[in-house]
Amino acid sequence: MIKQAVIMAGGLGSRFGNRTQAMPKGFIEIDGLAMVERSVQKLIAAGIEEIIIGTGHCSEFYDELAKKYPIIKTVRNDNYENTSSMGTLEVCAPLVKESALLLESDLLYDSIGLFVLQNEERDNVILASGKTNSEDEVYLESDEDGVICNVTKDKASVKNLAGELVGISKVTKSFLNKMVAYYDKTRAENAKIDYETVFCRIAQDKEGGEPIFIRKIEYYAWTEIDDEAMLERAKTLIYPRIKENESLRSVRREVLLNPGPSTTTDSVKYAQVVADICPRELEFGKLMEEVATGLTEVCADPKDYISVMFGCSGTGADEAMVSSCVPPDGKLLVVDNGSYGARLAKIASVYGIDMDVFKSSTYEPIDLEELEKQMQSKKYTTFAIVYHETTTGLLNPLEKICPMAKKYGMTTICDIVSAYGGMPIDLGKLGIDFATSTSNKHIGGMAGVGFVVCKRDELLKQKDWPMRNYYLNLYDQYKYFLETKQTRFTPPVQTFYALRQAIIETKVETVEKRFERFTECWEILVKGLKDIGLKMLVKEEFQSHFITAILIPETPKYNFNELHDYARSFGFTIYPGKLGNIDTFRIANMGDIKPEEMTHFICVLRDYMHSIGVC
Ligand SMILES: *Cc1c(COP(=O)(O)O)cnc(C)c1O
Repeated sequence: MIKQAVIMAGGLGSRFGNRTQAMPKGFIEIDGLAMVERSVQKLIAAGIEEIIIGTGHCSEFYDELAKKYPIIKTVRNDNYENTSSMGTLEVCAPLVKESALLLESDLLYDSIGLFVLQNEERDNVILASGKTNSEDEVYLESDEDGVICNVTKDKASVKNLAGELVGISKVTKSFLNKMVAYYDKTRAENAKIDYETVFCRIAQDKEGGEPIFIRKIEYYAWTEIDDEAMLERAKTLIYPRIKENESLRSVRREVLLNPGPSTTTDSVKYAQVVADICPRELEFGKLMEEVATGLTEVCADPKDYISVMFGCSGTGADEAMVSSCVPPDGKLLVVDNGSYGARLAKIASVYGIDMDVFKSSTYEPIDLEELEKQMQSKKYTTFAIVYHETTTGLLNPLEKICPMAKKYGMTTICDIVSAYGGMPIDLGKLGIDFATSTSNKHIGGMAGVGFVVCKRDELLKQKDWPMRNYYLNLYDQYKYFLETKQTRFTPPVQTFYALRQAIIETKVETVEKRFERFTECWEILVKGLKDIGLKMLVKEEFQSHFITAILIPETPKYNFNELHDYARSFGFTIYPGKLGNIDTFRIANMGDIKPEEMTHFICVLRDYMHSIGVC
C-alpha cells in the first residue's frame, strides 16, 4: 500500500505567459477547482496519507494549500529557476519513507490511474496512455523486458513505442535514492534534466540500476496543461470525459439519518476493494497498528493511551470494557439516563458484577449533587457512564462528572461511542481511563471494528485479574497484539482498510471542522422543525448536535412507517425512538452528511407533515 505522494510543482509554467506570472500553473482552475487541489483530493481518496509538494515559483500558493489540507508538506526548491523537475524531486526525496507516487502538478486525470498503480505488483511503474493527439506528447520506449529505455518528444526515434508519458509513477525509496545520487553526480552537465529522463538512466544502468516498467492504459482520460490551447482542450474534451468516467463509478447515495451506521464516502467504500491478504501477515499487522494509533489520536495522546480493537460492534467494545475493567472484588457505579446507560448496567449484571445504578432523567441533565452523594455513599472502584446518550441526544457533562469520580478514587470507564470523532475529546484532560467506540459512527468507516481506548497504566493493572470472558478480554487482546501484531482471532480484514481510509479523511477534515459541519446540519434541522411546528424532546442547550429526538405530531394521521418510506424514497433513512411512553423519531448528524442534504431532508419532511395536516 502506497502512503505517500510527491507532487513536483516548482516550475515556472512560462508557456502560459501572463497567466502564470504571479501564480503557479497548478492553480489554474477547471470547473472551479485548481488542478493541483483536485489532484490532492484524488490522492486522499486513493488512500494517500501524506502529500509532499516540491515548490519553487510562487511557493506561497502551495503553503496556503497546505493550511487547508493538513496532510500536505511543502518543500521549496530554492534553485527552481536553474533546475527542472529533477531538482524539485531532489528536495522532496528526503521526506519519502517507502514507496511513493510521483506526480506532475499540471495534470488532469481520471482517478482510476491511481487505483491501477496502487494495485500494480511491480515496484517501479510509469503510467502511460495510448495516443492522445495532445500535440505535446512525450513518448516512452521499452526494451524486450518492458523496462523503459527511451523518453523522447521525437516519435520518429522510437522503435518500440510503449505509450505516452502521463506524469504519474510509482517508485520505491531505493529507486528514488538512485535518482538523487545520479543527479548529484552529474549535476554540472545535467542541472535541468527532467525526472523522466533520470528514470531511464537508472533503469538502463547495468551496474547498480533498478528496472522501472511501463503500465499502459490504452484509453486513459488525462491531460497535461502547458498552455492556453491545452487548457481549452482540457476543458472541452478531457474534463467532461473524466467526469463521466468517475460518475460511472460513484455509488448510489443513501443518506443515513439513523444513529449509526452512518453515511460513508465512496472512497471509504472503495478502500475495501483490495487484494486478499491473510491477516496474520506482518503487512496487515502494521496496518492494524497504524489504525490503532490513528484511532487513539482522535481522542487521546498515544503516549499514554492505546486502542485495543476487536471484530465486533460498539456493544462488543462496551462488553469488553465492562467485563474487563472492574477488578475481581470491585464495585461498579453506573449512570443510567437512556438505553445505552441501561445497556452498560445490563452487561455488568450478566457478568454478575457487584453494581449500583444511578438512574436519571432521559431528557434532563443529571443532578450532579445527587450523583456525588451516590459516589460518596459506598466504596466504588469503578464508574461507568455514557458520554452522548444516543437515545435522546443528551450530552452528559463529563468535564464536571469525571473529576468527581477521580476525587473518590474510581477508575472511569466511558461509552463515548456516538461522541467519538464527532467533537473534540481529550480523554487525558477529562480523566477517562477507558473509552469505547466503533468504526461506523462519526469516524465514518464500515461496521465491524469495536475498540476500547485504554490508559496504558490502568490496562496493565489487569494483568493478573481472572478473565470474566474469553473473546472480549481486553488485556489478553492487548498483550497478544503487542507480541505478535495480530489479533487473537480473525479480524474483519476489509473493514480495517476502510477504517484506515476513514481515519485519513477525519484527519483531513479535522474533528473540529467535523463538529462545525454537524452543527451546521443540526441548525438547519432545528430551524426546519420549528418552521414545520414540530417539537424536540431535549432542550436545545442540552443537545449534542448529533441526534435530535423529535416528538411525533399529535394527529392520528401520523404513521412512522409511512414517513420512513416516504423519506427513503428520496434517499433518506430515519429511525423511530420510543422512550417509555414518549413517542419520537430521531434524526442523526453523523458521518458524511452535508448541510445541503439536511436542507433537502427538511423539504421532504415538510411535504409529509403537510400531507397529514401538520403544517
Ligand atoms: C451505537 C451505540 C452503541 C453501539 O451500538 P452497536 O449497535 O452495538 O454498534 C453503544 N453506545 C452508544 C451510546 C451508541 O450510540
